[in-house]
Amino acid sequence: MTIQALGYLGIGSAKPDDWTDFATKWLGMQAVDRGGGVRAFRMDDRKQRLVVDGSLAEGQRYFGWEVADAAALDALAARLEGAGVAVRREPASLADQRFVRALVSFADPAGNRLEAFHGAAVADEPFRPGRSISGFRTGPQGMGHTLLFVQDADAALAFYRDLLGFRISDFIRTPVTAYFLHVNPRHHSVALVQAPVSAMHHLMVELYSFDDVGQGYDIAMSNRERILATLGRHSNDLMTSFYLRTPSDIMVEYGWGGREVNDATWQPQEMTTVASFWGHKGLFEALGDGRPMPFPEPKEMPRAPVQVMEGNYHRMSGVCPWWDAVKGRG
Ligand code: FE
Repeated sequence: MTIQALGYLGIGSAKPDDWTDFATKWLGMQAVDRGGGVRAFRMDDRKQRLVVDGSLAEGQRYFGWEVADAAALDALAARLEGAGVAVRREPASLADQRFVRALVSFADPAGNRLEAFHGAAVADEPFRPGRSISGFRTGPQGMGHTLLFVQDADAALAFYRDLLGFRISDFIRTPVTAYFLHVNPRHHSVALVQAPVSAMHHLMVELYSFDDVGQGYDIAMSNRERILATLGRHSNDLMTSFYLRTPSDIMVEYGWGGREVNDATWQPQEMTTVASFWGHKGLFEALGDGRPMPFPEPKEMPRAPVQVMEGNYHRMSGVCPWWDAVKGRG
């Protein structure tokens, strides 16, 4: 029954053209016109990852959580029903719209529509990004992560952890209550943050290359009011990212270099601050009522190694001049 990744996200919006412009030219996704006011966006070999649906009201959305196969989907549905959660086996017509083999739907305690599915369709055509990027880091890590405001973070935690099988990566209890949960090596696929009203704050998508993010930042700088938060580095998932306003009321976090967690060794950490190592100016003000929030500043200047993958870095010389000199003589 284990959920493996955030497979897709659907949002309601009456601005499909604005979304197409934003998702292709700013984010680098590939637009696919599904007709009827529905725009789908590719990020990889899948037929769609992000769907903007004009027939859904602004603020309506659905989160697609992926499981391995039909047996896993049945087991998850049975587990939810056993806990008293209403589960709907969705018809083949909806599975066709989602480009998956089968799906069920249910709601989390905050009222978000969640869908669990298996068998996402892969496109015949290779992914063609909307602008020149090296690509999105998806695969086993899914399309990214989402941050949800919930009125009862502990109830949401119980649902996501105890029923859906998410595991805690980090959490914080003061000055806010928040849980960062993983289902694969991505540090978190969902963050649950206590707030006065339930809402989706952002979708994070991760790029393969740091330059993809920097070049995206250049594009964003041409229209600065679209930047919610400046380039910065998070202290928990070590993501270097910035935040963009979208044509809807959600944000997109555009990032590179997120850390991975390994369940065999990972211990959930209680965070003492949600402050970033640097940057992200505007983010925490936006999370509150507009005033700077009283997050304690880190006492020291924190730093951590960048998280890189094979082929995405060159090791610098000059770490130890003496040793380099010795090697040079050898
Ligand atoms: Fe995030």
